[in-house]
Amino acid sequence: MKVSHILQEKGRDVVTVAATVTIAEATKLLAAKRIGAVIVRDGGGAVGGILSERDIVRALAKSGADCLSHKVADHMTRDVVTCSEADSVDDLMEQMTRGRFRHLPVVEDRQLIGIVSIGDVVKTRIAETVFEAESLRAYIATG
Ligand code: AMP
Repeated sequence: MKVSHILQEKGRDVVTVAATVTIAEATKLLAAKRIGAVIVRDGGGAVGGILSERDIVRALAKSGADCLSHKVADHMTRDVVTCSEADSVDDLMEQMTRGRFRHLPVVEDRQLIGIVSIGDVVKTRIAETVFEAESLRAYIATG
């Protein structure tokens, strides 16, 4: 299964923030949207960074509650690994495992067109496995 199939299923909406908003505002957004990471957009609609709940935990450990008034830019990851619609779910699992992160923005022509989380990857993998098992059962039953 390809990333394009996942986006067809889940849609292409991506929650983004500007690098200038505070960590407190970004935290409220993560809680309201029930997500684990937001993409930080740059001026031209491309990916400028990513801020995940892990970055907020690290910021809290380092600066205490003071970090809530810091800017997202102070704590986001700038060097973001992205994927494309043509990538397979196996490619994504490998990238997430190697990079030890759970989110991959989908980018085409430098524009952000979606996001895939580890939850989407696991859901897709389970659906594939169930489909394979059912196909094998049907094959054996007709044999
Ligand atoms: P996560 O597991 O996605 O919550 O993120 C763990 C750490 O990896 C955090 O510091 C994130 O900012 C960072 N991170 C998340 N996704 C990516 C990505 N696609 N590329 C680079 N870093 C990332």
